[in-house]
Amino acid sequence: MRSSAHAAPREGHLTVTSPADGRTLGEVPITPLPEVAAAAERAARAFADWRRTPLETRLGRLRRLRRALIQHRHEIAELVALEQGKPLTEALLLELIPALDTLSYLIHHAPRLAESPAAPPHNPFFQGRRAHYRFKPYGPWAVITPWNYPFAIPFVQLISLAITGNVALLKPSPYTPLTAQKIAQLFQEAGFPPNWVQLIQGGAAQAEALITHPEVRGVLFTGSSATGRKVMALAAQGPKKVLLELGGKDAAIVLDDVNLELSARGIAWAATMNAGQTCAAIERVYVQERIYPGFTERLQAELEALRVGHPLAPGVDVGPLIAPFQVEKVARLVEAARAQGGQVRTGGRRLEALGPHYYAPTLVANPPAETPFMCEEAFGPVVGVVPVRDEVEAVRAVNASPYGLTASLWTQSSRRAQALAPQLDVGVVTVNHHADTYAEAAGAWGGVKGSGFGRTHGPFGLLELVQLQYISEAYPRAPALWWYPYTERLHRVIDATLILVGEPGLSRKLLAAVRLFPHLGYLARRLPLHRVLPALLRYAR
Ligand code: NAD
Repeated sequence: MRSSAHAAPREGHLTVTSPADGRTLGEVPITPLPEVAAAAERAARAFADWRRTPLETRLGRLRRLRRALIQHRHEIAELVALEQGKPLTEALLLELIPALDTLSYLIHHAPRLAESPAAPPHNPFFQGRRAHYRFKPYGPWAVITPWNYPFAIPFVQLISLAITGNVALLKPSPYTPLTAQKIAQLFQEAGFPPNWVQLIQGGAAQAEALITHPEVRGVLFTGSSATGRKVMALAAQGPKKVLLELGGKDAAIVLDDVNLELSARGIAWAATMNAGQTCAAIERVYVQERIYPGFTERLQAELEALRVGHPLAPGVDVGPLIAPFQVEKVARLVEAARAQGGQVRTGGRRLEALGPHYYAPTLVANPPAETPFMCEEAFGPVVGVVPVRDEVEAVRAVNASPYGLTASLWTQSSRRAQALAPQLDVGVVTVNHHADTYAEAAGAWGGVKGSGFGRTHGPFGLLELVQLQYISEAYPRAPALWWYPYTERLHRVIDATLILVGEPGLSRKLLAAVRLFPHLGYLARRLPLHRVLPALLRYAR
């Protein structure tokens, strides 16, 4: 990594500047569009080999990757801290722990998850067949990722693609190309084939070229909802499989039975970790009226205690925002809330003494529901707190958002939590914690509504990355009952079977059985009756 003062951007290159202190960290060539197409062709060839690579070999690569990750953890954390801005401890916690937990999960569970489950036939006529499901990889995937978790997001997605037999073309955010380079190096070090993951550096043009390339069979997109809509429109031309992990405007509901101190502490963390630049950061808090004053005071105290500063400095809790546009956006939303009657209890200002990218942790009390501060994704260390009469009002407020990533309930009552969770239109509900289940490899991560669709993590995340194939085998000695010719007798047999299987009334069922009886010999010549009859009797119940 090169480190110097500001450098003039070079044509065809991304210049990486640290949001922490403005130093230039390096320069990365932008992938020319013809090279994007060539990479997709190489990926298709790499896929032809990788799909045939035994699971045990793939697991061996993951084990080596795990060793490499542990070995390089400090340099990865430092690079992320400098390139993206999260404090070092947070880089270890939020970038490396999810990566390692998912690696371990896949190493231990992939063999069982990759098994081809049997699918015993249900249709009475199909008894005697043998059927099973197979999970087949799609092929090359475009993995298009944001800057806010430049290591964990692509890494978790890549290892999930690797174990399911897919290959990847990684197009990271133009703000964090160096962390992506580090990821590609780790895969190389772990012995993955050279074109298993190829890096495509650049922005929208490179991403679009990937999505529309015919060899790319799947698109795993993580980013803003606005870009997600474009991605889906482009993928529709394939059509090709697309997963959209998009933005959020997460809410917390604080009920009147909480431990005030614990909940204020947890909410302060989930609102400001990674300087609030988390898709699942808490940006809205709905608090039951009775405890609203006490809770707001405690949350304010928690936010005021946070130490904002350079991500490499010891003891820093909150680092800088990624870029000036992000600071502008946060400031604009806070000013709008203030102008519309929200009370800025703490923060609400840039911390210019630290540098142009720093913004103070901010609490806006009682902002109106329609202010952009409570509707748009802020992506900064800011939170709005609003009193609500009861659970009904709280749920209505949470669900009013066009987003639906995650939401949390803060209460000591499991009964209240369980009654409320299903009413929330979000992909993940957490109780007395928030956002941290991204680090739970066995979970399911993803949203609903404007936050996208599809899941990563756990068995359901892996299922998204494979095409289900159903294989049904029959080895008959006679033509199947329904093969031509369509005789009068066949018609009567099918009609009687329909009634036997579908009619609820016992007398009609018995009648149908009587009608079927004379044809048993005929049926026996065409079907394995010793299997078909028990199935028919089962249905007849
Ligand atoms: P972004 O949408 O601007 O960019 C994301 C990626 O898309 C980048 O690699 C970018 O280069 C690429 N891109 C840009 N234009 C494109 C186009 N026309 N077609 C295809 N790709 C294009 O998002 P960002 O600012 O990098 O990231 C922040 C956003 O990501 C926030 O909204 C955040 O909530 C969301 N996010 C969601 C999750 C999740 O799990 N749901 C996780 C992290 C971040």
